[in-house]
Amino acid sequence: MNEGASPFLPYGRQSIDDDDVAAVVRALRSDWLTTGPTVEAFEQAFAEKTGARYAIACNSGTAGLHLAMMALGLGEGDVLIVPTLTFLATANAARYVGAEVEFADVDADTGLLNEASLRAAIERSQGRARAVAPVHLNGPCVDMAMVARQAQEHGLAVVEDACHALGGTYESNGVDVPVGACRHSDMATFSLHPVKTITMGEGGVVTTNDSATCEKLKRFRSHGMTRNPEEFRNTALAFDGAGAPNPWYYEMAQPGYNYRASDINCALGLSQLAKLETFAARRRALAARYDALLAPLAPSIRPVPRVPGCDPVLHLYVVLIDFKAVGADRATIMRRLKARGIGTQVHYLPVHRQPYYQKRYGELVHPGADAYYERCLSLPLFPDMGDEDVARVVEGLKSSLDLKH
Ligand SMILES: *Cc1c(COP(=O)(O)O)cnc(C)c1O
Repeated sequence: MNEGASPFLPYGRQSIDDDDVAAVVRALRSDWLTTGPTVEAFEQAFAEKTGARYAIACNSGTAGLHLAMMALGLGEGDVLIVPTLTFLATANAARYVGAEVEFADVDADTGLLNEASLRAAIERSQGRARAVAPVHLNGPCVDMAMVARQAQEHGLAVVEDACHALGGTYESNGVDVPVGACRHSDMATFSLHPVKTITMGEGGVVTTNDSATCEKLKRFRSHGMTRNPEEFRNTALAFDGAGAPNPWYYEMAQPGYNYRASDINCALGLSQLAKLETFAARRRALAARYDALLAPLAPSIRPVPRVPGCDPVLHLYVVLIDFKAVGADRATIMRRLKARGIGTQVHYLPVHRQPYYQKRYGELVHPGADAYYERCLSLPLFPDMGDEDVARVVEGLKSSLDLKH
């Protein structure tokens, strides 16, 4: 189906160089395959890059969200507020710990949680909300100062789902804050899946500025085990006659998981992290090129509007399409583009419309999320794309429409 010699353009993909390969090979030849010095080196570098005090690596973004819920101590009877326009994992994280989800609506144009939608969700949760998980959809940031104000007022913890937003900054009190610095949140979670800005194969990171939270995340990442004598409860078993901790001894107060990231994955993550600025610059340049080439198609097709004060590294390049005005529906356009070797995707069906959540919470009404969902289409965006690829996508898009001239 792919005409000509042009390679298929997926909506996103990894960018791997020889030095990434060499870094992984070095890890394979080292003494450690799982938790070794590269995990720590990666965590340190990630913390520096995001400006957070601590970064905890784990084996997926989803695991990171689950760890965050455990670190907050969320459980049955608690409610996590989740914008309904996100990937499944943000909401599922609440269910993993037995908490319920209160879906919040989003802005119809940016797809982001906003002041009114957060306030409405807090009211609906009738005092049971214990935390909120703002999602920086596509890369642009939720107004975190606004979230922090409402969170403080209602005693909510804040976990940023920053899986789309690594490398971006947002303005806070006149200063540009890197995403992940947790200036207005308890934790931020990242995914290093291959479609994301940098990759470690499968992997994730949680950042925080709180040492106790960091300790909890590390404990739940590895079975809930502790080897810290200060935490031992079974003192008769833990210590010898002279009061020294027994060398074999560890304890578990609450079960955790094996969510550890390996040295192999972290070697790739560390190598990729060094390229974040290069990738970011390339993504910004490609987005600017899309903006320019798509401008004549407005208002029927326009990019998701930018957020004031935010300098994102776009994970996805999303356009909002008035499908009536362009004379073709979304599935038709996607099929036509695919036939030309151009991959597109829809991010996302609002999660409250998934059968599991429909069954659990009934039919919910979130008009902002529906209006965004009905118009959105993600076009290819990844650092290895050339300027000519952007032109090819825009030309392909134009000829997939049934415009009446
Ligand atoms: C990718 C993603 C996740 C999950 O990350 P994995 O590494 O795939 O588990 C969670 N939330 C959002 C918004 C994501 O895009």
